[in-house]
Amino acid sequence: MRVVFVGPPGAGKGTQAENIVAEYKLFHLSTGDALRAAVAAKSPIGIEAEKYMSSGALVPDEVVVGVVVERLDEAKDGCLLDGFPRTIAQAEALDKVLAEKNAPLDVVLELAVPEDELFKRLASRGRADDQPEVIKRRLVAYREQTEPLVGYYTKAGILRKIDGLGTVEEIYGRIKAVLDEYK
Ligand code: AMP
Repeated sequence: MRVVFVGPPGAGKGTQAENIVAEYKLFHLSTGDALRAAVAAKSPIGIEAEKYMSSGALVPDEVVVGVVVERLDEAKDGCLLDGFPRTIAQAEALDKVLAEKNAPLDVVLELAVPEDELFKRLASRGRADDQPEVIKRRLVAYREQTEPLVGYYTKAGILRKIDGLGTVEEIYGRIKAVLDEYK
């Protein structure tokens, strides 16, 4: 099963992703985690990425696509792509790579949470990029650059919207009901 997880910052993707990969035995690829590791290691990619991440902007497509392509081979038995793609260009690059592997996406989960709730959740989290100004920019980046993916994957017929309000357990229950259809 190959799954993409889309949703605005603060929607709770990280928490739900942990549950999903444990239960469905999927390779978890979070580009946010991979980029934070690169920043911590001060690798060339990390040094480049940090400039964007610290301001709340998206890291350039070619940098992120490179990070993902390098690791997709670890995903033989299925994967959860978490925080990738985040632009139409990334989605097109992903489609191309997966088509070459004869391994198209099965489903795209959109975790939907209203914006006022996101701001509350992010402001209480305390990550380096969770400062109010940076949060605002990340939400704008989501709306302008990532949300168009909803239309892209709806057109492809693989988008499933998940209500992201409720307890962690309630939301996971909704996710599981959808993923069980693709097992
Ligand atoms: P996340 O942990 O998914 O919220 O990502 C944290 C930050 O990493 C984002 O605000 C972006 O700067 C960067 N990032 C993560 N994934 C991507 C991606 N697919 N494309 C561009 N930038 C990304």
